[in-house]
Amino acid sequence: MKAVVFRKDRGLVYEEVPDYKVAEDEVLVRVANIGFCGSDHSLVAAGMLADGYIPGHEISGVIVKKGAKAGGPSIGTRVCIRPTYCGQCANCLGGKEQLCRVHRRTAGIGDLPGGFAEYVKVYPQMLIPIPQGVDSRNAALAETFASALHAINCTGDKTGSTLVMGGGPIGLCAVRILKILGYGPIVLFEPVAAKREIAILYGADHTFDPREKDVDQQVLALVPGGFHKTFECSGVKANIDRASQLAADGGQVCIVSMIFTPLTIAAPFLLNLKEVRLMASYSNTHAENIQCLNWMAEGKLDARPLISDDEPLERLPVIYRERIDTGLAVKVLLRIGEEF
Ligand SMILES: [Zn+2]
Ligand SMILES: [Zn+2]
Repeated sequence: MKAVVFRKDRGLVYEEVPDYKVAEDEVLVRVANIGFCGSDHSLVAAGMLADGYIPGHEISGVIVKKGAKAGGPSIGTRVCIRPTYCGQCANCLGGKEQLCRVHRRTAGIGDLPGGFAEYVKVYPQMLIPIPQGVDSRNAALAETFASALHAINCTGDKTGSTLVMGGGPIGLCAVRILKILGYGPIVLFEPVAAKREIAILYGADHTFDPREKDVDQQVLALVPGGFHKTFECSGVKANIDRASQLAADGGQVCIVSMIFTPLTIAAPFLLNLKEVRLMASYSNTHAENIQCLNWMAEGKLDARPLISDDEPLERLPVIYRERIDTGLAVKVLLRIGEEF
């Protein structure tokens, strides 16, 4: 089959790789669409993948083959793919299967080979059937929305003013879901005008270029007392300080972006003075993916405005260099097998 693999000396390369043999507990899925995630970019840019590894985890496809002992949905079912979990450890029983340390197998994020390929081989527990009325493009990007939903769920109660820092895919998805859940006002900080426009389409009440002069004063005039919740989705380290300064008394600051280098909090006492709660979110659950797919079926969520680059798989190595690594793309969606 054809796949895009990571090569230590050349980065992403489109290659012919061996076809899969399906063991008795495994399921073969023909990939329809796949999104290119910020974490794919981090892993490729940092060279944190094995030579010959196939990345890619934002997958929609169709089950085409099952091992004799593989349970779950039947052949022909349209599915999304998420990691496994044990279902029995303290984290799983507490509804935090994304933190399962016992049986966490992932496809395309450093463990099992992923979906930048014609086929992906997974375990039945990884399959989430796609509801009627959701197309393969939206379904592939349900996980991006689920990551945003997970960050919002990590912050608990469901009301108040919110600031989203960074209008990449996760930040924009957060804006949309905050709107569905009834938060307000919703403010987005994002330097790129085209991304601010998507945020308005998704329901943001105000958007700002955070580099402009006096933005923080303007924002505090709109939201007196500061923000109940802030979601840091930009990866800009200085935003953690800025978020604490813009937080309301008892406000929450949730770090959604993954930061890989040391971080300095310039004035930690500000966290004390307002009892700001600093927290972080990681990944998402099956239930959160199902919720996002259901919102898509109801017409409340639509990933398509996020797609800036719609390309066949073989173009990924070029798109990576020209559009992803340069920060020009919002969301890259790849076409592989038959779309639905
Ligand atoms: Zn992702
Ligand atoms: Zn577990």
